[in-house]
Amino acid sequence: MEEALLEIIGALKAGDEPLDAAWLDRLLRKISRAKHESTRSVTKRKLLPYYLAIKAHDEERWRSWGIDEAIEHELLRLLKVKPRRTASGVATITVITKPWPCSSDCLYCPNDVRMPKSYLADEPACQRAERNYFDPYLQVRSRLVALREMGHVTDKVELIILGGTWSDYPRSYQLWFVRELFRAVNDFGGRGYAGDSPEERDRRYRVCGFTHDATELERRTADVQQAVNAGELSYNEAITRLGRREEWALAASWQTATIQELEREHLYNEDAAHRVVGLTIETRPDLITRDSAREMRELGCTKIQMGIQSLDRHILEINHRHVSIEQIEEAFSALRLAGFKIQVHFMANLLGSTPEADAADYLRLVSDERFLPDEVKLYPCCLVESSRLGACYESGAWQPYGEDELVDLLVADTLATPAYTRISRMIRDISSTDIVAGNKKTNLRQMVEARITSAGADVREIRMREVATSDVAPSDLRLDCVSYHTTVSDERFLQWVTPEGRIAGFLRLSLPLTGTEAMIREVHVYGRVAGLGASERGGAQHVGLGRALVEDACCRAREAGFAAINVISAIGTRNYYRGLGFDDAGLYQRRSLA
Ligand code: SF4
Repeated sequence: MEEALLEIIGALKAGDEPLDAAWLDRLLRKISRAKHESTRSVTKRKLLPYYLAIKAHDEERWRSWGIDEAIEHELLRLLKVKPRRTASGVATITVITKPWPCSSDCLYCPNDVRMPKSYLADEPACQRAERNYFDPYLQVRSRLVALREMGHVTDKVELIILGGTWSDYPRSYQLWFVRELFRAVNDFGGRGYAGDSPEERDRRYRVCGFTHDATELERRTADVQQAVNAGELSYNEAITRLGRREEWALAASWQTATIQELEREHLYNEDAAHRVVGLTIETRPDLITRDSAREMRELGCTKIQMGIQSLDRHILEINHRHVSIEQIEEAFSALRLAGFKIQVHFMANLLGSTPEADAADYLRLVSDERFLPDEVKLYPCCLVESSRLGACYESGAWQPYGEDELVDLLVADTLATPAYTRISRMIRDISSTDIVAGNKKTNLRQMVEARITSAGADVREIRMREVATSDVAPSDLRLDCVSYHTTVSDERFLQWVTPEGRIAGFLRLSLPLTGTEAMIREVHVYGRVAGLGASERGGAQHVGLGRALVEDACCRAREAGFAAINVISAIGTRNYYRGLGFDDAGLYQRRSLA
């Protein structure tokens, strides 16, 4: 390992050739060949933890390598695994809530009783959650440690809470869950342990009778899972039965917190070494009201993921969604007026649909002013063993679309997507072994993008235009404004674009049709992750692009006659907005436009 590292460091010092992933791969192959290895003992994934371990525990050896700050910067850039994961400038951490009944029972929804409704035990985030007893603190901490070992900067963290329907969990559990998320981020930044240490937490769960052994968990739930798969028990009945078991009942007695306790962690996070710059939760439209939006905001939430799936009444009904179009419309309005970023789940190939009907339905989602999401997760429906869709498959009432049909549909959806909407996903992270029928291609998105690129089609959708890890020259950027209307607001999507039309940053400005205060719903600047306050080395962050977007939004709001502008700031960005002239104002920060 050391031999490989010294060769890389030597090449970096010599500076004779550009060192990139291909160069590194050639070097590792050469080393492997020289050792006559059939499988590589030195891999990119192992190099970075090795380097960090030597630096932390063998200072003398590390010094002998003669690494200065510039060389180390380049070394970390070269060794970093999966640069895309933090390409947006933020380390994203997904956490999963505990298994819990959901107040709906959609036909296609997986029923894995080891998981919250709709999730499967072998999805990566779910495995991590189960290993950590679904404890929010332990999930965040283990992810932060892993990201650090992979060389990612973790001082800006976006938290995504997934699992069934958030609004169905008791408020005291919600407060505890989010307090523990913030506590984990705050502790990781060097505070020490404000509550139990990870070891004490582990002991506490074990005392209650929990295990994180996947085989043992499978054994404990096998009979109940079998009854669910056979249609003898619903997921909710099974979870209620399992939830009454001693360990969950014992844990529920201490998985509780008050809003004041949560606010204390919020306050600490404002100046912490690792800050929460976004918090997302997942819920259903029929549970979103003005009041529930306020409660979600109190938690520090900035984005809501909402399961829409379809806008066709008949399709919603036969798939047992138990939600009306009016409720979906209401939810969009409530979230928009509360300033949230709105991310929706939308499904193709539901029972009763066709590719043509799906294309028309998606077009309605992205063009009807009652809806117009900011982000979409497009999930083609697929059959997993535990879902009730199985009976429809067996009777022939439901069939998965063929691959070409599906790709054609997703190409059409992508091309119909406006400039202010991002398609965040095109598949669920479900293992192909769990899929009985439906798409198993994990590279479905690449297939869609390749089709679009080869056709030379004009794409407006955000994700395909992102600058990602490529460097941008701020002087080449142009500020562009896309205006659109919703039933409750005029929206302005301000975007920094390169001469080629790629997007380097954007801001979402809402100008509500009633009231005197405008709302900034999102500010996002792409680029390589740079530490908060660190000097920039070519990425798009920290070169004033965000500030310029905010100033432009203020001008536009003032010209439109608004007296003040609010921003739905994440807890960890409050200081940033104070620096831009915003004052704290309850659940938002506000700047006068007088
Ligand atoms: S609302 Fe979501 S979690 Fe609940 S059953 Fe429907 S798809 Fe599953």
